[in-house]
Amino acid sequence: MSNRPDPAIVLPSEDPADRAQRLLRACVHCGFCNATCPTYILTGDEREGPRGRLYLMKDLLAGTADDAPLEPLSHCLSCRSCETTCPAGVRYSEILDVVRERTQSARSRAQRALDRMVAIALRARGLLVVIARGARSLRRFAPKTFKQRVLPCTEGLAWPAARHGRRIGLLIGCVQPALRPDLDVKAAIVLDHLGVSALAVGPSCCGALPYHLHAHDEGRSAARATLALAAAGDWEGLTSTASGCTAFLKDYERLFQDTEVAAGARALAATVSDIAAWIDVSHLAKLPRSQRRLIAWHAPCSLQHALKGAGRVEQILLALGHTLVTITDDALCCGSAGPYSLRHPRLAAALGRRKWRALTGAHPDMVVTANIGCQQHLARHGDRPVHHWLDLVYDALTNRDTTDPG
Ligand code: SF4
Ligand code: SF4
Repeated sequence: MSNRPDPAIVLPSEDPADRAQRLLRACVHCGFCNATCPTYILTGDEREGPRGRLYLMKDLLAGTADDAPLEPLSHCLSCRSCETTCPAGVRYSEILDVVRERTQSARSRAQRALDRMVAIALRARGLLVVIARGARSLRRFAPKTFKQRVLPCTEGLAWPAARHGRRIGLLIGCVQPALRPDLDVKAAIVLDHLGVSALAVGPSCCGALPYHLHAHDEGRSAARATLALAAAGDWEGLTSTASGCTAFLKDYERLFQDTEVAAGARALAATVSDIAAWIDVSHLAKLPRSQRRLIAWHAPCSLQHALKGAGRVEQILLALGHTLVTITDDALCCGSAGPYSLRHPRLAAALGRRKWRALTGAHPDMVVTANIGCQQHLARHGDRPVHHWLDLVYDALTNRDTTDPG
């Protein structure tokens, strides 16, 4: 029997760096993870894969690589595909978070300035709302390639009154309500049809965006505000229509593990699940199948790798009578990864092109996903529409057709 402690155990008052070093010892350097790492596949460079990054992080934590270039860590998408692949259960993202926070100040001045600018732009929610609204108003007159880049929005929807005994909290985040102001309402209407009342939580940033821009304190303080807001709610569970936000809410347990709000964060995180878990598939299967589409389903990394929620949305789409095309490289990130596409546009665009080719090779009617970042990032390709799966469930339950035929 091995004397090695279970890496998943959080030791009381353990320094984060000590914990990261302990987690690192689980790695047996087999390199299996490289095969599903988007940046390794793109570059073929060992330093740009998880195994190389783990070596680098080990040296950084040991203080033997103080002058090493940090680009490989910056290029990592935090997609966690390597965690899904790793046979040894290495908790890569936990190690990365610790090392990124410790090396914050060692980043280049240009990178820090860029992160600052992106954070300010994303925080200017009012401005984002105005720009997105303006783009939508021009959408109708625009050529098709531009049109598809501006996400369509169904106007005139009203949030249903809370009339059911079963209730869930639905986080209204920051970027999504600007780009798709109809989606949370559609989700509430869908759940209402299925006997669950959704209560709006927010608008409140879950903290993921600043956290992934290396503004760890800012991310934690946004998360703390959302935690306080959500902890006061009276419902069975908390969810969101953006799988990226849901995954970060689930991570509150880890984010606050050594703080005075640890118990509250743990209790809240235990109620968090992807919104697809609230959809009664058997009910959908009984609906008339008026629209049958050929769909390319893109599972966001936050859904398949962080929330381990692969398969559920596919069941929902099949229950609605749609056909799913087979996707090669379905575990790979599309390059959106929260603010990544703004921080590393060249890498993000290359990954996006690769993913688009994989998604559209079989000429589907549309691409469907579960996260606003992926939806917007993929829509830039412009030759066919990209929707959220909830758009299709909403259409089926209300007998409408709000999806854009392209
Ligand atoms: S992280 Fe896992 S898959 Fe990758 S080298 Fe280490 S043990 Fe192997
Ligand atoms: S998180 Fe994604 S990009 Fe980063 S090392 Fe793992 S697989 Fe590669």
